[in-house]
Amino acid sequence: MPVVLLVVLSLMLAITVGLLAAYVWSRRYDRRSRPLTLLMDALAALPDGMVVLDDDQRVAEINAAASQLLGTTHRAARGQALTSLLGTTPHGAALRPLLDHLSEPGARLLSYGDAAGEQTLEVRIRPLRATNGAVAGTLLLLRDVSERIHAEQSRAQHLAELSLINRVARAANTAVDAEGLVRAAAESIAAAGIWDRVTVGLLAPDGAGLRIVADITTEGQCAGYEGQVIGGAEGEALSALLRAGESQTLAMRDPTTAASALGQALAREGISQLLLVPLYHQGAPLGMLALGTSTRGHNSPALPRVAETIGELITDAVVRARLYDELHQADQLKSSFLASVSHELRTPLTAIIGYVELLRRGGYGPLDERLQEPLSYMHLSSATLLRMINDILDYTRAEAGHLRFDLQPVDVRHVVANVVGQLQPLIQERGLAFELEIAPGLPYVQSNKARLEQIVTNLLSNAVKFTEQGQVAVRAWQVGDRVRLSVSDTGIGIAPEHQELIFQEFRRVEASSRRAGGTGLGLAISRRLAALMGGSISVESAPGQGSTFTVELAVFQDLDQDAGLVVLGNADEPPVPPPAAREVAA
Ligand code: ADP
Repeated sequence: MPVVLLVVLSLMLAITVGLLAAYVWSRRYDRRSRPLTLLMDALAALPDGMVVLDDDQRVAEINAAASQLLGTTHRAARGQALTSLLGTTPHGAALRPLLDHLSEPGARLLSYGDAAGEQTLEVRIRPLRATNGAVAGTLLLLRDVSERIHAEQSRAQHLAELSLINRVARAANTAVDAEGLVRAAAESIAAAGIWDRVTVGLLAPDGAGLRIVADITTEGQCAGYEGQVIGGAEGEALSALLRAGESQTLAMRDPTTAASALGQALAREGISQLLLVPLYHQGAPLGMLALGTSTRGHNSPALPRVAETIGELITDAVVRARLYDELHQADQLKSSFLASVSHELRTPLTAIIGYVELLRRGGYGPLDERLQEPLSYMHLSSATLLRMINDILDYTRAEAGHLRFDLQPVDVRHVVANVVGQLQPLIQERGLAFELEIAPGLPYVQSNKARLEQIVTNLLSNAVKFTEQGQVAVRAWQVGDRVRLSVSDTGIGIAPEHQELIFQEFRRVEASSRRAGGTGLGLAISRRLAALMGGSISVESAPGQGSTFTVELAVFQDLDQDAGLVVLGNADEPPVPPPAAREVAA
């Protein structure tokens, strides 16, 4: 409001109060006096109620709005003492405290009516003083502010509801198992203090009935029903309400409810009203949210809607948690299936490899020269197959946390020689040049011989697999207290966006995987193994130009000096001779 207007209005009010004081003081009010007639007409037209009391607290003047608010008329009210006027108005009881404060200027909010139709009256009191300062009477300004108060209350309630929904949503995300999240959600509803009892039941998957997962009081304490399956007459009544599929309020003031089995149970728990929200997912009942009130109140019509929203949040969270659980179980099933299948495949395959080797070496007598080549293919292919099966087995072991081996001093030169010896025929068959460069005097690394062979075999067979022409190279050198071992190729290379992805389980680059078979597990397992050795694997590559994979391992330190080392054998690994070994596991 502009300042000028405020000043004008204040001036008008001051003049009005002055004139009224003069009028009340003189008691010689001539209603035909022109300025006063005009003034009274203006006040009569005010939307706010106005009552002028004389110094005896009798109504000297009252305008139309005040007459309406007080349920009286101008004629009936004029000259009446305020006490008797309040005695006859419909909300006199609420206004009566006013009488004690008539000498104090100020504003008060007075509420009357019941919870459903509460009205609020703002009363401003201005004592009227004559020019000599004596109190001549009182001016009461009355304004119905019910709408404003309702709007403020509903805004505050809306905010409280939103924050409750938000809290429940967050609580429902804190746990992964269905029961844990239901409890967390129930605790956050109880903490809001709107309901005195928060109970959530979930239908047992075997149809055994409604099992109470959380039963919490406002103080956050666990109430009696938690962990129980609701059976008998109460269970039947709840099932019927659940089948109805709509939220309902059971009020104990309803005699039918009070007499029912459910009503009697509620009475025992001191609950006067229960808001029941069925939890449904895709048309199938899942459980029930019950919100109990032990006193009258909380009658806001929005609350059932809030409760339904909370019910939906709980439903979604429970469904998500159960799905997660099912996926986890399926994952475990898949892992154990993979483990047993690969285990079963490995045994005959090892036999095939053994017999092929025996044949090649003339164990069954001299061989026709023509058979050497197919036997060599058979041997290579079986070895590749065995590597794949071993990768799958390692993957299932790592998933179950059973991938373990001993750490020992390992000679990199020895490992590389073994791997190159095995893959040489493959390199030759592809017509690739091969370069080997091992720095002289390379120290032992902290590793595991068989597992390091597995890593180098993986990297070298990948290098050969993804290189059409050019060369592959293996190099090893020392950098401070680390040894680096690189496998390079001049093959198809890897795009920058795939260079991290290929280290994830089952990830393969679409274009390259079409040309060459594989499981997509080799690099993921190699990286896990290197990490268990306290090392790492990285890649540098450019599409079309080739790739270099580098394994970095710590130079072997005397493990005996370290405190708390565990020396353990492993059933799957060949026994490794000391000097010192320590078991690591993933
Ligand atoms: P697999 O070789 O069985 O597919 P890996 O985990 O060993 O599984 O490799 C994952 C993917 O990384 C390969 O499918 C291929 O796309 C890419 N890759 C690995 N090594 C090379 C390489 N030397 N050159 C090009 N791409 C490679």
